[in-house]
Amino acid sequence: MLVQGATPNQPETEQIDNNLKVKNNEIIMANLKFKRTKENFICASCGAKIIGTGYTDHCPNCLYSKHVDVFPGDRQAKCGGLMQPISATIKGQSYVIFYQCQKCGYQSSVKAGKDDNLETIIALINKPF
Ligand SMILES: [Zn+2]
Ligand SMILES: [Zn+2]
Repeated sequence: MLVQGATPNQPETEQIDNNLKVKNNEIIMANLKFKRTKENFICASCGAKIIGTGYTDHCPNCLYSKHVDVFPGDRQAKCGGLMQPISATIKGQSYVIFYQCQKCGYQSSVKAGKDDNLETIIALINKPF
């Protein structure tokens, strides 16, 4: 048993590479505005930095979103306006947030994420139309 060639590479260099890639993505995003479904973005309303998970498309802090979808997640809308959370409701075990685009008036609703600011959601539920 003299063979020791199967020793795995040290992961440190890979981690450094990933960090560089993330930084490059942020720079590219700032130039192109985000086109991919799973990307980090800066909230246009409160400035919070949002880590993209592939399904979180709104700010968990202030709940604002962006009008980028024709159908949820497709990022086909050309509008790009700020989607204002106008109301919310309880549906089963989760919350649903209703949005209206401040630019074109488009309305949509989305299921609240588990990291969303609960106080903001409650305030929306109690808010009259
Ligand atoms: Zn925000
Ligand atoms: Zn719009």
